[in-house]
Parts: sequence; C-alpha cells; structure tokens
Amino acid sequence: MAALSDPKNQFMKKLMDFGKEKVKEMIPRGDTCNQYVVACIASEEELEERYSTIIEDAGKGSPETTDTYYFSKRLVVILNKHHWHGEARLLDPTGRLWETVTTEKDKKDDREPFEGRYFVGKMRENFPAEVWGTPKLVLFSHYIPCTIPRHQCARLIEEYVNTTGTEIILSYERSHGDTDEERAYAILSRNKEYITIILPWKQDQEAIVEQAESFLERMERGTKRDRKKHKKRKERETENTTESSQHRQRNRKRKRKRSK
Ligand SMILES: [Zn+2]
Repeated sequence: MAALSDPKNQFMKKLMDFGKEKVKEMIPRGDTCNQYVVACIASEEELEERYSTIIEDAGKGSPETTDTYYFSKRLVVILNKHHWHGEARLLDPTGRLWETVTTEKDKKDDREPFEGRYFVGKMRENFPAEVWGTPKLVLFSHYIPCTIPRHQCARLIEEYVNTTGTEIILSYERSHGDTDEERAYAILSRNKEYITIILPWKQDQEAIVEQAESFLERMERGTKRDRKKHKKRKERETENTTESSQHRQRNRKRKRKRSK
C-alpha cells in the first residue's frame, strides 16, 4: 500500500479534509448529507512539488458558493442535489453520459432537468499556464462512485474517461450500503491507463483490489460467454431465415404452377 508520506497521497488527504470543511459550511446544521465530491485540476509534477499551495489558493479569493457547491479557481466541492449525484453534476452536465450508462428501465424516474454547469471546463481554463506537466483531474469522492442502477456513477466516470481521454486520479473513503464495492472498483480499474485509484487511508485496500480483480475476470468470462451465445443465436437465425426463404421460394413456385 502507498505510504501516507507520498505527496500524491498527502494531497488527496488534504483534498478530502478541504471538502469536509466546505460541506459543513454548505449544509444547514442538523441536516445530514454524507456524500460529496471534491475535484481539482493539477499535474502530477505539481502534486510532487507544491501540492499544498493548490488547496491554499482555492481557499482564497472570491469563491462561488451555493448550498450545494463551492467553486474556486480550479477546485470544486459538490454535494448530491435531488436525484443527481455529485459525480454526475461534475462530469455530465447535459446527461449525455447518463443516457449511455443506464438502462431504459432505470431511466424511468422523476428527474429534474440537468443543470448544465460545466465545472471541469471552467477548472481547466483556470489551470495556470506556468504550471508544468499534463493537467489531470484529481477526484475524491466520500463514497466510492456508486453502482446504483439509476445513477451508475462508476460507469459514468469510466465512460467520461473513455470519451474525453481525461486522466483521473481517484480516491474515496467509504462504500455506501447500496453499492457493490468490488464491482465499482472493478469497473473503475478497467482503464488503468487513464484511471489511477489511490486509497492511502484504506486498511483493506489489498483485499478490495483482489476481489475486484476476480470480479473483472468473471465479467470478462461472462462477456466471452455472451459473445459465443450471441454468435450461436445469429447462426441459428441465419439458418432459420435461409430455411424460411427456401420455403417461401418453394411456395411461390407451387403457386405459379397452380395459376398456370
Ligand atoms: Zn452515484
């Protein structure tokens, strides 16, 4: 497991604490809302050298604040809002990804319209030109991005990365009772080139990684089996259609004979 002294882990810890602090300010006292995401645009070189200043900068100046998000320069803290999870509010302002990752059955929901706030675009614009290295999205989510059918935040992140080519450094603290942690972890580890998961505070990380890997294998085996089944079905269908077209041809010939 990566040591807490690693600058990237230190940064993630600071990001998490910053998020917690802002959440307390956003939520009226007595209300409980655990889930929040904190995201920021930074390069790895920057995290290695001067990670603490990124967060200090975000605390200064004049941030945009509402009761569900805190936005400052290239950092944002977002709560869930109505039916929208923080991950979707951050990465999917038009609902395009959500359309892809949920099934028709799970779309039947009384959702409010999408808010159309492009947080990531704005954050990218505010990435300082003098900073060296490729800007990446550093994302901490209190709960592991979910596998709840009508949200599918883990799939949504995977789809976001696959379609935009954005590199993400991701971390989370807990797993919500409605989420299958191994499955979520497996989904998020399918694109290792673009998604790096770091869990500096998680004691059972090795166990999760192991379970997620076996889950991935099962998924892969399942897909292979599905492909085989699909192929067989297609073959059967082709046979059937050939048979029925031969049948039709024979019938036509018979009809022609009778009409003569
Ligand atoms: Zn979710």
